[in-house]
Amino acid sequence: MYINGRWIESTEHTIEIINPATGEHVQEVAAGGQKETKETIDAAKQAFKMWKNKTGKERGQYLKEIARLMVEKKDVLAEAITKEMGKPFEDAKREILVAADYTEWYGEEAKRVYGDVIPASVPDKHLMVVRQPVGVTAAITPWNFPVSMITRKIAPALAAGCTVIIKPAPSTPLSAIEVFKCFHEAGLPEGVANLIIGPAEEIGPELTSNKDVRKLTFTGSTNVGKHLMRESATNVKKVSMELGGHAPFLVFEDADIDEAVKGALLTKFKNAGQTCISTNRVYVAESIAEVFQRKLTEKVAELKVGNGMEAGVDVGPLVNEQALEKVQDHVADAIKHGGEVLVGGNTFEKEGLSGNFYQPTVIANANESMKIATEETFGPVLPVFTFTNEDDVIERANHDRYGLAAYCYTKDMSRGYHLMNELEYGIIGINDPGPVAAQAPFGGVKESGVGREGGKHGMDEFVEEKFVSMNVKR
Ligand code: NAP
Repeated sequence: MYINGRWIESTEHTIEIINPATGEHVQEVAAGGQKETKETIDAAKQAFKMWKNKTGKERGQYLKEIARLMVEKKDVLAEAITKEMGKPFEDAKREILVAADYTEWYGEEAKRVYGDVIPASVPDKHLMVVRQPVGVTAAITPWNFPVSMITRKIAPALAAGCTVIIKPAPSTPLSAIEVFKCFHEAGLPEGVANLIIGPAEEIGPELTSNKDVRKLTFTGSTNVGKHLMRESATNVKKVSMELGGHAPFLVFEDADIDEAVKGALLTKFKNAGQTCISTNRVYVAESIAEVFQRKLTEKVAELKVGNGMEAGVDVGPLVNEQALEKVQDHVADAIKHGGEVLVGGNTFEKEGLSGNFYQPTVIANANESMKIATEETFGPVLPVFTFTNEDDVIERANHDRYGLAAYCYTKDMSRGYHLMNELEYGIIGINDPGPVAAQAPFGGVKESGVGREGGKHGMDEFVEEKFVSMNVKR
């Protein structure tokens, strides 16, 4: 752990990190509980007095140096990710570069936390709005993007002038530790960014009940997010929530089929489908369904499954046994409800690998009675539905619970515009499987979350607006 500028390498408790690709022991790390969390909050509160008074330019310089160090150490950071959660090494490197990009972008944006001057409606008054940092911020992150989920929160928080406590997922603390080494090397003042590793049931209640924490930012499942919102309500913290998703992927009859197949592959099988904006449902126009499914199946069959440290691997393991069981349950249920497995459909076994692998899978004849049609699978399984009518497919694509990302493929841009208006999602990719950028807001509607990460919108989550009315009569 990293608390108040000091490394804490041994405590009463430890957490064992297991490599999900091999089942092998990787490392043990020190873990803290309620007492250490309270100490960390006190340190962050103390540091806030100093950090908020630095200029945006000064805070930005630290962030830009951290970004530089992350790029320099990308191989070390990426290896930590691959060993603790299984993502292929090249994808892990891309995650580091994206994380560094967000950090650098907020390093620039730190200079631009502008306020407003508002014309008064009476003489001799001067009205202003100043934007100030919220205060001590607690950030709880998941295992699926263990570095970029941290920097997407820390970078805007630090840029705005907040101090931060990060609680990473207990299965992925190693890459978080490597990120904090960059913070340390960049000379970030003590107490400004802190890392606490340990069980949610001890750390979580202190983060939510402690009045000195003024902001909670969370990425993870919708159920845990709801719980944290309820707990944070007791002292009315500002919250932002990046929660679950169930992305539809619409392919119209005029789409470039090869591009759509490429997009479906990227949005489903990257990170073995363990991404909040993963495609969960493909809806393809009936007239092109056969050719789309044939091309998709051919490409999926070519994906290489294996240990992410091996060159050329496209799909790594699922994070643990429970994740695998959920995928197996969804596939069995889909078959029971009339689904036809076109490729995959089973666990993947090979000497030297753990039992956490699942074959990249495509299921045809998908229908709304299947669990996979409404629940997040979080695995490499792609169900394909068909449609004949645009209004009907929009209605089916809109999920009653989730609203994170949606993708559509069409050459007709007026249709693209209509879809953009009608799809109830926070992020829309039109002929674009990668609708994510440091300068753009990322986040969902409905039960996919509250608030945005990225861009100037992401900075808003870490500032309060203070209205000042001055009587300037002489
Ligand atoms: P999770 O079970 O909700 O856990 C996320 C984090 O919350 C972990 O650090 C976890 O620690 C912690 N946590 C769990 N219960 C807690 C509590 N009562 N108090 C405080 N902390 C608590 O989610 P996950 O399974 O790791 O991640 C997958 C989910 O995240 C999916 O639903 C995915 O869609 C979503 N996600 C969303 C986004 C987005 O931007 N919208 C991005 C990535 C992932 P413990 O492990 O110790 O419980």
